[in-house]
Amino acid sequence: MSVVAYIGLGANLGDAAASVQQAVRDINDLPGTTVVETSSLYRTAPVDANGPDYTNAVTKIHTSLSAHALLRALQGIEKQHGRTRPYRNAPRTLDLDLLLYGEETVDDAELTVPHPRMHERAFVLHPLYELNGQLVLKQGSLHELIARCVDQPIHRLR
Ligand code: AMP
Repeated sequence: MSVVAYIGLGANLGDAAASVQQAVRDINDLPGTTVVETSSLYRTAPVDANGPDYTNAVTKIHTSLSAHALLRALQGIEKQHGRTRPYRNAPRTLDLDLLLYGEETVDDAELTVPHPRMHERAFVLHPLYELNGQLVLKQGSLHELIARCVDQPIHRLR
């Protein structure tokens, strides 16, 4: 059985755009997983963190992996990209968030889906809107949620 899932990608070290684009290819190479569509790249200032601006995107996939298997696979890709976690919200070569996994709700020690902060982050909402403008989250429509993030500068790259 295949599920539609959305993954948020972000990087702010090295060639961040290249990291994000490579990560999309890595996701497409996961077992039972196909990338359907990827948003433009966006540039955003770090939220709750220091360091260079982030490059962000969202990708839509079809996957037969379970939500937990997908999360672990994404963590494997982060690791391949050399991510270390010296401290909370440290600059990172690659951050992958499982945003939505079909209609499923998961909340355990390892995984929370829908991602608990996605509804308040311009760098998730704008690329997600590009992929599916009709999407409605528990907290409201993407249109409404985006209107609440006007204080977060975001620039679409291409
Ligand atoms: P971060 O350092 O922000 O990438 O957070 C990673 C941690 O968040 C890991 O311990 C994950 O198990 C946990 N986590 C919980 N829910 C999610 C999610 N939806 N996507 C990615 N990581 C998640």
